[in-house]
Amino acid sequence: MFVGHYAAAMAAKAIEPKAPMWTLAAASQLVDIGWSAFIITGVEHASVDPSLPGSTLVLDYMPWTHSLPAALAWSAGAALLVMVLLRLPMWASVAVGLTVFSHWLLDLLVHRPDLALWPGGERVGLALWNYPVIEQAVEIGLIAICGAAWVASRKTLDGLRGRRSPSSDSW
Ligand SMILES: [Zn+2]
Repeated sequence: MFVGHYAAAMAAKAIEPKAPMWTLAAASQLVDIGWSAFIITGVEHASVDPSLPGSTLVLDYMPWTHSLPAALAWSAGAALLVMVLLRLPMWASVAVGLTVFSHWLLDLLVHRPDLALWPGGERVGLALWNYPVIEQAVEIGLIAICGAAWVASRKTLDGLRGRRSPSSDSW
């Protein structure tokens, strides 16, 4: 999953408008940003198998970004970081943390079983990547539904503020 992760950022923004959108967008991809850095530095491993349907990635070793405990740790770390560095209110920080964790749940839908439940432990994944048309429909559907929720929440906010200008809450 790639663009589908942004759906979680839009859903979080709809629920918690005090969390800046750029923070939520980065949060939704944080685990993959870390993964890219770890792949480049050789901490985690992946290869490509062109015969695979959907994503051709073989993600054979990524305990520090895509195991369940790692995802929980990145989520908690991100929530703490935005609370301390950006001085976000508690619920906005929680929204950022949950958005980071949403990445693992959405990856669970699409990855072939490569997400470890614990380091070195059982690997899970519902493998929608093996059905690329369905997988893309899910990603686009998530974006459409969560995008609509975000737009609706902004209209409600603007309505509550009694003005027509776009809401000025933080981006
Ligand atoms: Zn990922």
